[in-house]
Amino acid sequence: MNKAIKNFVWLMLPPCKEVTELISLNRDRGISFAERLKVRAHILFCKFCARYLRQMQSLEEELHHKHLPEDAPPDVIKRIKKIVRDNS
Ligand SMILES: [Zn+2]
Repeated sequence: MNKAIKNFVWLMLPPCKEVTELISLNRDRGISFAERLKVRAHILFCKFCARYLRQMQSLEEELHHKHLPEDAPPDVIKRIKKIVRDNS
């Protein structure tokens, strides 16, 4: 892509801080379609946020598949997720 165009698109995109916040919000309560589009567009151009998103997703998967007992009560799962989040 032409560097000038790339710079222009970059200026139109939300900043990394907003995108990483949206990514963690998405884990907590979900985000709107428009917000998701922002994230998608941003990570096309930003390796840092793309990696952040991948890390969040694999963390989620690990929580779902490995570390939690099948029959753990929802509030316990919520508490464990919070601890993991606060320490990540
Ligand atoms: Zn970024």
